[in-house]
Amino acid sequence: MTKTLLEHAIPDLTAAIAYLFTAYRRPLDTATGLVYEHQLAAIPLRLVREAVVQAPDARPFLPTCAELKADCESLRLHALAALVWAPCAQCRDAQPGWTAVTDAAGVERLTRCRCWTSHQQALVNTGLPLAPLIALPAGREAEEVTP
Ligand SMILES: [Zn+2]
Repeated sequence: MTKTLLEHAIPDLTAAIAYLFTAYRRPLDTATGLVYEHQLAAIPLRLVREAVVQAPDARPFLPTCAELKADCESLRLHALAALVWAPCAQCRDAQPGWTAVTDAAGVERLTRCRCWTSHQQALVNTGLPLAPLIALPAGREAEEVTP
C-alpha cells in the first residue's frame, strides 16, 4: 500500500505532536511532548494525524490532550457512520439483517444475512476501533446533586 502525502509528512506520533505545536506556533519542550505522546499513544495514528491537521481550522487555541482525544473520537464516529448498512432485497421485508436457514434436522433457524455480515466486515476493515476511545463523564444520581 502506498503512503499518502500526509502519511509521509507525519509518519509517527512524535511528528504529529510536533506538527500540532508548529501549527499553533508554540514551543514544544520534552516534558510536554512526553505528556502528549503518553496520552495519545493508545489512539490509532490515522485519527491523531487527521485531528492535528484539522485542529487549526477548528480550535482557536492549542488543544489539550483531552480535546484532541475528543476530536479523534469524533473522527472515528464519522468514519464508521459513513459506512451505512442497508438491508438487502432478501431480508429487508421479513427481518432486516436476518435470514432463515433450515438445518439438517429440518428445523428453521435464523442466521445473520450476508448483507449484515459483509457490513460488519467492512467496519472491521477500516482498522478503526469499534469501541469508544473516550468514556463519557460519569453520571450523577439525583441525591448526589441535591444537598
Ligand atoms: Zn440481507
